[in-house]
Amino acid sequence: MKQYTAAALILALLGLMLCGCAHTSPELYSVTYWDLFDTVTTVTGRAESQEAFQSVAQGVYDTLLRYHRLFDIYNEYDGVANLKTVNDNAGVAPVAVDPEIIALLLDCREYASLTGGAVNVAMGSVLSLWHDAREADTPYVPDSGVLAEAALHCGWDTVIIDQTAGTVYITDPQQRLDVGAVAKGWAAQRAAEEAPEGLLISVGGNVCATGPKTEDGEAWVVGIQDPDGSSGYLHTLSLTAGAAVTSGDYQRCYTVDGVTYHHIIDPETGMPSEYWRSVTVICADSGLADVLSTALFVLPREYGQALLTQCGAEAMWVDSLGVQYYSPGFADYVRE
Ligand code: ADP
Ligand code: MG
Repeated sequence: MKQYTAAALILALLGLMLCGCAHTSPELYSVTYWDLFDTVTTVTGRAESQEAFQSVAQGVYDTLLRYHRLFDIYNEYDGVANLKTVNDNAGVAPVAVDPEIIALLLDCREYASLTGGAVNVAMGSVLSLWHDAREADTPYVPDSGVLAEAALHCGWDTVIIDQTAGTVYITDPQQRLDVGAVAKGWAAQRAAEEAPEGLLISVGGNVCATGPKTEDGEAWVVGIQDPDGSSGYLHTLSLTAGAAVTSGDYQRCYTVDGVTYHHIIDPETGMPSEYWRSVTVICADSGLADVLSTALFVLPREYGQALLTQCGAEAMWVDSLGVQYYSPGFADYVRE
């Protein structure tokens, strides 16, 4: 639900922008979808007419829906072998999958290596324990012994990606994949590459611009939510291209015995990471931005900065006291 709050704030800001531009840019349109990646998606952009915009937005939606189904680990879809199928066949058999699943998993394997295992989609066995604990009628904290046992089943040598055969096989029956840290940004990147210039695509706060808002090059305005939620936005950013993605501890969290547990798990401990309240990453590639926001969230700042430098990305960290830290080029994107 928190996720929806974040998205609603972004929508509210977009709404203000739309009203604010009504005189100068009557050709700006926006549409919201509620059924993708368990979050809120908005597509905003210039078009000659409502009909022209609808057809562009429909193309974005169709692309995202295809990925939503392929990367879903909870639901089955008629005639689709998706990541749930792959997980269900762990230790059983290789699964013939769509080439897009192979492409995503090859990228995810690279991302695990790039981040030194900080973002590891092969740790579904651990993540599913947290998911089940959070979604239970009475939420609980997973047992530490069970978490430690699950952590033994998170390697990549047991995930066999056969590009020639077009199959994926998890040879360890206790292992699972969970691409939640990567899929929204990765899918948004693909959708953006297929879309015309001048769109802003937000998939649950993974915001991706395919070009400036106006033909004059005016930037989009993207809000960074205050992790405390009370004062709305910490900052607004200017974005003309590329992606801005935030990972925060205020999303998908729950409280047990007065302690709040959130959904971004430190692979070193198997527990929700405690370094930061939120991390916002700006990066040309939306998939990489999504990876980096999760990675930086579970890493000390010096490790995160090394990753940013390597990837040519920028970030803002917010710690538990509300103190903000910028990477060297982040301020260039801050409007206010
Ligand atoms: P959100 O999905 O809320 O935008 P993230 O991109 O940071 O936030 O991804 C969080 C999701 O990724 C979690 O719900 C979980 O499924 C998964 N996840 C959590 N921690 C990790 C991790 N260290 N490595 C890989 N996946 C993770
Ligand atoms: Mg992420």
